[in-house]
Amino acid sequence: MERLTGIGVSPGVAVGRAVILTLRTEAIRFPIPPERVEREVAALRAARKQSQHQLQDIRDRLMKGRGTELAAIFDAQILMLDDALFVGRAEEIIRQERVNAAWAVHRAYEELGAVFASVEDEYLRERENDVADVAGRLRMNLRHGARSPRDLLRELDGPSILIADELTASLAAQLDWTRIQGFAVDAGSRTYHTAILARSLKVPAIVGLHDASAQIPAGTPVILDGTIGELVVRPSATAIDEAHRRASRVRRTHATTSDPAVAHQPATTADGVHIRLQANVELLEDLQLLREHGAEGVGLYRSEFMLSSRSLPNVTEDAQYALYRNLIEQVAPQPVTIRTFDLDERQLGFGGPERRRGRPGLRGLRLGLARPDILRTQLRALVRAGAHGRLRIMFPFVTGVEEVREAKAILAEVADSLGMPPPLVGAMVEVPAAALIADLLAPEVDFLTIGTNDLIQYCLAVDRTDDRVSEFYEPLHPAVLRLIRLVRRAASRLHIPVSLCGEMASDPALLGLLVGLGLTDFSMTPAALPMARQTIQDLRADDARKIASHALSLATAEEIERYLFEALAMSAASKSRP
Ligand code: PEP
Ligand code: MG
Repeated sequence: MERLTGIGVSPGVAVGRAVILTLRTEAIRFPIPPERVEREVAALRAARKQSQHQLQDIRDRLMKGRGTELAAIFDAQILMLDDALFVGRAEEIIRQERVNAAWAVHRAYEELGAVFASVEDEYLRERENDVADVAGRLRMNLRHGARSPRDLLRELDGPSILIADELTASLAAQLDWTRIQGFAVDAGSRTYHTAILARSLKVPAIVGLHDASAQIPAGTPVILDGTIGELVVRPSATAIDEAHRRASRVRRTHATTSDPAVAHQPATTADGVHIRLQANVELLEDLQLLREHGAEGVGLYRSEFMLSSRSLPNVTEDAQYALYRNLIEQVAPQPVTIRTFDLDERQLGFGGPERRRGRPGLRGLRLGLARPDILRTQLRALVRAGAHGRLRIMFPFVTGVEEVREAKAILAEVADSLGMPPPLVGAMVEVPAAALIADLLAPEVDFLTIGTNDLIQYCLAVDRTDDRVSEFYEPLHPAVLRLIRLVRRAASRLHIPVSLCGEMASDPALLGLLVGLGLTDFSMTPAALPMARQTIQDLRADDARKIASHALSLATAEEIERYLFEALAMSAASKSRP
């Protein structure tokens, strides 16, 4: 029994066998039942035959055009397909380890690679590239061109826990979470988008496990505890029994926290300040949770998530209109704030540099203005959908007033051409530049929304998806708190509503501090709403204000944290005083 510790990002306990996903190489390792072994071996043999035909074809074409020398490379590759140490070894791995064929090819290639790396002869060492080529071809043919990780993960045998090097939110959104009980990823930090999604899906999850996906063999029994961030590898039978008991206890607690009577109590502090709690939504399925948890509307709809199930050219104006209208009508009479696509160039697939989501660059509104065709289509769909309920439009990743003006001009033009009124428009404040000019942005918009997930990463120069720096991702850093206070003050002075939709608000201690900073409007992942409501009912807003004022006079995040926990506990204890 071995315990690995990461960051628990979605509570709950799950028990199952490990399925390994290496997204970087698109390789998936999963255990197969005995009756499937022959099917995998047959698939490998078919892929070998197909690879042979392809290579012979290439060789013949080269012979005709360029002569024998180049063609000889492919002769060598064809011979490799017959080598017992390669495809033969892969077959052996399927039978002995009972894993899928693509993974067996990857393993056999690694073993051969190690042999090549140790030989003196340079000519032979160079053959390693050919082995890599052949392995890649076999794996491609095993995928039959169309079998994505999502398709492969449909074929799992029994309850499984997904262990991945990284897991994109778009892939996570498409997986069958009744078979996969939980997931753990090597990369990530608390606000990693996939973690946000895990909480919406109520799937226990851990991030920041460094190299778990490389260390854990496929099929190994594991217990995943998303509450404390622990992954137990090869647990004892007693530990498994205990985990099953805890898993059902967690399910019962979930059931009580979403008790409709509690969910529909107002979120009002002990001294009578009403706090508006809305939900962040990525998928329409989340709307069920929103009702269960009594959210007062959708404070952030991350519209780019619709692109996880279809590609941009298919997201026509009419398709978007239908989706937005459905969302608005389902949430009515409560309001919905829809954020325009927060994408970067890579996600649009028009040849920008490889960037992971959340990195600075041509992203959010900047990208919208660089591709006004996409922004205009979205705004047309939004203006049309706005006729069916209470809609607000929000622009992500704003850095300057001129961007807002330009986007608003496009919106006005779109609304004019449709002969319909433009909905209310807001700017997200998630880049320090926007926070510092909040007083200049406020007169341009109908509302401001602070996005702390990005504000923290750009303020502190910490990539929110990089687990190596996650310890520096600190919501309580005095600089972050000052930026939030600055925005709240500017909005109050200019009488513009301001809300906050980062994950920071779903942490009860931080929520108390934010209320103390004068914020009264929050949007968070739906599963966090019951806890937030309870926190608010236990809090006195006048105490919270004093606590926040003192906290902002402290010099370090650690001092603030220590002070905050003690002070908020004292305030909660005395909440019954008149
Ligand atoms: C944020 O940055 O705080 C936010 C809510 O947006 P996202 O997490 O989608 O970047
Ligand atoms: Mg953001």
